[in-house]
Amino acid sequence: MHVMVLGAGITGVTTAWFLHEAGFEVSVIDRQFDAGQETSFANGGQISISHPEPWANPCAPLTALSWLGRVGAPLRFVPRAHADQWQWACRFLCECLPGRSRRNTAAIAALAVYSLRKLHHVREAAGIADAYDARAAGILHLFFDPRPFARARAKVEEFARFGIEVRPCTREQCVDAEPALAAVAPRLAGGLFAPNDESGDAMRFSMALARVLADCRVQFHHGMTIEQLLVDDGRFARAMATDSAGKRYAFTADACVVCLGSHGRELLRPLGENLPIFPLKGYSVTAPVIDHARAPTVSLTDEARRIVCSRLGERLRIAGTAELNDYNRDLDQARIRAMLDWAEDRLPGAIARDQVTPWAGLRPATPGGVPIIGRSAYPNIWYNTGHGPLGWTLACGSAAALVALMRGETPVLNFPFRRG
Ligand SMILES: Cc1cc2nc3c(=O)[nH]c(=O)nc-3n(C[C@H](O)[C@H](O)[C@H](O)COP(=O)(O)OP(=O)(O)OC[C@H]3O[C@@H](n4cnc5c(N)ncnc54)[C@H](O)[C@@H]3O)c2cc1C
Repeated sequence: MHVMVLGAGITGVTTAWFLHEAGFEVSVIDRQFDAGQETSFANGGQISISHPEPWANPCAPLTALSWLGRVGAPLRFVPRAHADQWQWACRFLCECLPGRSRRNTAAIAALAVYSLRKLHHVREAAGIADAYDARAAGILHLFFDPRPFARARAKVEEFARFGIEVRPCTREQCVDAEPALAAVAPRLAGGLFAPNDESGDAMRFSMALARVLADCRVQFHHGMTIEQLLVDDGRFARAMATDSAGKRYAFTADACVVCLGSHGRELLRPLGENLPIFPLKGYSVTAPVIDHARAPTVSLTDEARRIVCSRLGERLRIAGTAELNDYNRDLDQARIRAMLDWAEDRLPGAIARDQVTPWAGLRPATPGGVPIIGRSAYPNIWYNTGHGPLGWTLACGSAAALVALMRGETPVLNFPFRRG
């Protein structure tokens, strides 16, 4: 059976891997000229099992209000006359209800724990452990205010029930875990250390895995923009695509898997499928490390500023902010400056500020933060998409679970898979 994967971001290539491993004939179509060139290109790099609570949680509405109008605030809403954006925002608010947020947290946690095991499997089986600046040094969540720290500590037991290990740390223990924090130690209220979390470059991982797959005769059709999905007799029949010269191609397969990030919604709409995915823009800056003693090796999450920081080889990646601004990917200099100021404040002297590569990407976000994995209303169109802020963390588990579903198996996971 030939399965065509639509999209070669982190979710597409991992889907292709598990399909290939399960014995399917696999091809991949993408508009870029290599894998991992859109949202998976320069994300925060965190494999963040310890952060299963979605952005839609009971504290989110008030927190968002307190950030309104602040330059460099972690969240920004740019109102547009776009019904989808308002609909998404309303659904996001509904998902902040305590019951829904608890249910979504449990689903994300189960998938995240499963995904870490699958990531270990993929990198060993594909032989790419050294290809993506991987670091298994944990994630340290930093708190500069005692109240949010107390609230977060109260969740440690709940996370332990999900199989997620998180250890509360005093400010001294934070500095023991990551000596580069010495400069900010007096301001720290405390931290939560997740020893099993990891970090790495999602783009390099995607490219390395795609190379291995291409060597295993998985066919990659790069530079092809999919414009239409056609169905025949209620089943997916072909994807119509154009190359950069405007030439049209028809790609046929027995089934397809949609892994198109924020762009799947528009392609599926003419088929009557309404994917609740909207782009949530985020920024990152990547810069060479100039002082090793001042640059962290443990990945960090600054909970107050919603900024993450990962060491990727000789580089430091700092990422954050969420902006509801349609498909806009312009680089707002104020946002970039805010991230660089963060680095100067928290990790003074660690990076070369004059050699920064800024980037913006669109997280394919569902209102509740739970990705869409499973079958569409069409028997041979499948979804593995909508991973929002956690696509790198959840990619391997989502792909493994989807392929199990496609083989008629039931993944042993407390997760709301789509059943068509
Ligand atoms: C600032 C920022 C920081 C982040 N930090 C983290 C983090 O630390 N940890 C974490 O787990 N996650 C993080 N994420 C989220 C993560 O990066 C995403 O969830 C993930 O990259 C989504 O992967 P994807 O494969 O679904 O989408 P993409 O990587 O965007 O892949 C979709 C693919 O589809 C292709 N495509 C789209 N439309 C078409 C078309 N019409 N025709 C052909 N091809 C098409 C694109 O070229 C692309 O290759 C972050 C995101 C951002 C923006």
